[in-house]
Amino acid sequence: YTGKTASELLSEKIKKYKVHEFQQVPVAVKESVSVYDAISTMFLEDVGTLFVVDDHACLTGVLSRKDLLRTSMGHQDLTSIPVHIIMTRMPNITVCRKDDLLIDAAHKLISKQIDGLPVVKDSDHGLEVVGRITKTTMTKLLVELTTDENI
Ligand code: ADP
Repeated sequence: YTGKTASELLSEKIKKYKVHEFQQVPVAVKESVSVYDAISTMFLEDVGTLFVVDDHACLTGVLSRKDLLRTSMGHQDLTSIPVHIIMTRMPNITVCRKDDLLIDAAHKLISKQIDGLPVVKDSDHGLEVVGRITKTTMTKLLVELTTDENI
């Protein structure tokens, strides 16, 4: 018997989880695609955040639902606006890496007030997007903790 409380054990367990154990597949569009096509992709791929990449598949921007909604209000032709005009761009993008602690990614979501983070790795041309962590990832973890018999 370790003398640790149930809550201490749970907390220790959560602090061991790494990003790569929970990351989901990223959905990315190129900088040149139109706002119209980005909205279509968001529906088809059923995600709330799109990552924008250059020709080397490296991260250049992020598009949220509200970024696209904002642009849609008062613009007639969404097919003529490329996403690089409206996206949040590098270097102002909060990222995480596969070996980061999941709890650190959760702290970033809260402190930056965003829905998702790209999981990146270094490549010759910049940051390659290899995954995504979202608020849904955190909800799944919460459910998993209640069904995990090893706690
Ligand atoms: P929504 O805008 O739909 O509420 P978010 O809260 O995720 O969704 O996004 C808020 C703003 O932050 C948007 O302008 C978006 O482009 C930007 N954003 C989203 N994710 C990131 C990120 N990982 N790093 C920096 N900015 C981000």
